[in-house]
Amino acid sequence: MVFIGVFLAVLAAATATRLWLAARQIRHVRAHRGAVPGMFAESIPLAAHQKAADYTVAKARLGVIDTLLDAAILLALTLGGVLQGIAALWARALSVESLWHGTAVILSVLMLKSLLGLPLGLYRIFVIEERFGFNRMTLRLFIVDAIKQLLVGAVLGIPLLLVVLWLMQAAGPFWWLYVWVVLVAYSLFLQMVYPTLVMPLFNKFSPLTDPVLATRVEELLRRTGFRSRGLYVMDGSKRSSHGNAFFAGFGAAKRIVLFDTLVSRLQPAEVEAVLAHELGHYKLRHIVQGMVISWSFSFVLLAALGWLAGQPWFYQGLGVQTATLPMALLLFLLVVPEFTFFIQPLLSLFSRKNEYEADRYAASNADAAELVRALVKLYHDNSATLTPDPLHSAYYDSHPPAAMRIARLRTT
Ligand SMILES: [Zn+2]
Repeated sequence: MVFIGVFLAVLAAATATRLWLAARQIRHVRAHRGAVPGMFAESIPLAAHQKAADYTVAKARLGVIDTLLDAAILLALTLGGVLQGIAALWARALSVESLWHGTAVILSVLMLKSLLGLPLGLYRIFVIEERFGFNRMTLRLFIVDAIKQLLVGAVLGIPLLLVVLWLMQAAGPFWWLYVWVVLVAYSLFLQMVYPTLVMPLFNKFSPLTDPVLATRVEELLRRTGFRSRGLYVMDGSKRSSHGNAFFAGFGAAKRIVLFDTLVSRLQPAEVEAVLAHELGHYKLRHIVQGMVISWSFSFVLLAALGWLAGQPWFYQGLGVQTATLPMALLLFLLVVPEFTFFIQPLLSLFSRKNEYEADRYAASNADAAELVRALVKLYHDNSATLTPDPLHSAYYDSHPPAAMRIARLRTT
């Protein structure tokens, strides 16, 4: 029963750290609300800076509620006996040894979790995003999206879940190794089908028609020797006025996608600089690195699960008597984020290093000054704070703070 203590201590430490970081962020952003930082004084008006501060604080407050709710749900599911109750309920209809029992329990818990998360999700979009003028979604679109996501999740997720559960039962003591191979193969498969089959269910993709921009982008692609399967504009404005650019897919199937909000707000030279940054991630192999890291990570986690699934204390310590392999998988999925939360700063550090490298790539293949202008516009338009708490930012942020990125871009 030592494991109950370990679990409670880790959950308490992770929750306390999340709350402490959120409190720091709120305090820091509010303390710097009064004045635009010097280097942005000419490009960002005070009103926009204050809006960004209020938006950041509103999101951090919602994050606090989310953290508390998540901890409460996790405790209720495990030590509160809800998981055990759901397993017992399904055991009336299905044999506990069967694949179907495990599948039913896992799907019920996932559904329950997303239902419980729904109110906060609605609040985020229809209250916070709405208040700051970012929301373009209607309730109707939200519901249609939710139904589509559920169907896509079922079509893509249930067969995978069945294969994984079957391997756990039938593949012997090294099932976790086979599961890992399946997961790696599946992640590659998903990256291939996602841009062409799934994303068009949610958004419209039209070829880039602006001739000035198209010429510039083609020039950039030629200069950097980048081949892609086309250049598209996505109707991101259907849901939100936040702008973005990204690459979808990989290998020869990759597409370049620009949000319509980005194309309409940035000058062609600025879009070119943003794209050069994204190209940098590809050329510097950040995408491949990211995949290798996440595969290595899942290898370690699955090996841990392979061992834990055979330990009776793992189930008992988490409030469950039905010690089946699917239950081990479910418990592991629920509990593992509390443990991996503590390596988040390392992942963020790695990601920020890559962002600097991509910026340097953009500076040598496009115009650094245009990238700076684009960044300032994006920070302004997205109400992203220019004054994050340094520790909060070091812990979570995948991108370096604007001031640091711009300072580096100006010296390259
Ligand atoms: Zn980047």
